Amino acid sequence: MSYSGLSLLGHAITGNRHWPAIIAAPDMRATYDIVIVGGGGHGLATAYYLADNHGLSNIAVVEAGWIGGGNTARNTTIVRSDYLLNSSFELKNFALGLWADLSRDLNFNLMYEPRGYVDLAHSDGELEHFTLRANAMRLGGADASILTGDALQARVPELDLSNGKRFPVSGALVQEAGGVVRHDAVAWGFARKASKAGIHILQNCPVTGFDIVKGRLNAVETTRGRISCKQAMISVAGASSHVAGLAGVDLPLNSINVQAFVTEPVKPALDAVVNYNAGLSYVSQTDKGEFVLGGATDGYGSFARRGSFERIEDVLARAMQMFPFLSRLRVMRHWSGTADIPMDGNAIMGPTPIQGLMINGGWGYAGFKATPAVGHQMAELLATGKTPALIAPFALDRFTSGTEQDDAGLGPYPWLH
Ligand SMILES: Cc1cc2nc3c(=O)[nH]c(=O)nc-3n(C[C@H](O)[C@H](O)[C@H](O)COP(=O)(O)OP(=O)(O)OC[C@H]3O[C@@H](n4cnc5c(N)ncnc54)[C@H](O)[C@@H]3O)c2cc1C
Repeated sequence: MSYSGLSLLGHAITGNRHWPAIIAAPDMRATYDIVIVGGGGHGLATAYYLADNHGLSNIAVVEAGWIGGGNTARNTTIVRSDYLLNSSFELKNFALGLWADLSRDLNFNLMYEPRGYVDLAHSDGELEHFTLRANAMRLGGADASILTGDALQARVPELDLSNGKRFPVSGALVQEAGGVVRHDAVAWGFARKASKAGIHILQNCPVTGFDIVKGRLNAVETTRGRISCKQAMISVAGASSHVAGLAGVDLPLNSINVQAFVTEPVKPALDAVVNYNAGLSYVSQTDKGEFVLGGATDGYGSFARRGSFERIEDVLARAMQMFPFLSRLRVMRHWSGTADIPMDGNAIMGPTPIQGLMINGGWGYAGFKATPAVGHQMAELLATGKTPALIAPFALDRFTSGTEQDDAGLGPYPWLH
């Protein structure tokens, strides 16, 4: 069914008792053309675009847990394209364009809100680097401006710009098209449309192995049995190294914990996403009124989703440097997710050494913003067999050919974000 004001009214009249499930629960087939391993935003977006752009539907999305239980629904919901490296910028900027129309395309309210992303610089040198980045963004067709002093204070009135801080603010790079998107709605919206197109979404069905004969993928093994397929794509975020390892593919990744927090809700007080760069702490306010806070990775490898106290203290202390009023709020929830981070800090997308097996991973704590672009591009690769130009720089073989895509602030230096 299509969501509209009329359908809302119709269901209200009948006591909201007949809303259909948004994702079908079909029996698993023995064979599909394509199996997507991982039902996060990336895997589901790929399924949606395979159906919508390429007319393919003999596809299964195989998810170990439930839809929207992975990093897609653990992130801090920030979308932006303020990257300097061409390859990073172009992919994220393409995604930003897609976010703008996606709610309409999916007939599902993703709550994309371009509130503006305000990236604070803490020295003149850093501000100069931000100016370079802003100019590069403008040349690439994105909006970007540099604000200092009164102009910055007017843009974010709640920001404490007073003197005497340990890390004073010199100015900020502002991207007004940046903002937030409701993260779990992204998983549900893509899943609903893919399911409607006839794609099978199989939840609670972990992939346990790959049947590979003479270097070619034959089938995917799951806890519910074997699925023969022509192609498969691994898109499992924090589990990338483990799942690729089941196929004998060794990925150059570190798996590191990233934490996030929300405070108790209060009235609207902050109309931007603000990022503090002296150590990393970012803050936005949800429509419910809670402040969402995030920061850098824990700095050591772990699959545990607990997180260190040191990082909790660090993120909250820096957030209070920006917005001292936050000290009066209680943190209501705290969680973390496993970020899969390659040493050049950029994603890995494309073929693996196994024929028929593709990988999309290595997104660390920066992949949510790219979700629709990843789905769009990986769908094109799976449907046509040709790597689209936008994702060609992110091929796995860049680590052997020496064409790494170094994004400062990720990889070995996550604190330089
Ligand atoms: C705390 C935190 C904050 C973040 N903040 C931001 C942000 O503000 N902006 C941003 O752009 N990015 C952010 N990120 C990163 C972003 O969340 C991820 O890069 C992105 O969601 C990855 O999408 P995905 O679909 O690949 O991952 P997921 O949603 O994790 O999907 C992968 C799925 O694979 C499944 N899976 C795992 N193993 C198997 C298996 N064996 N078989 C089948 N399925 C399996 C998992 O259950 C999971 O559902 C953040 C991440 C974290 C942890």
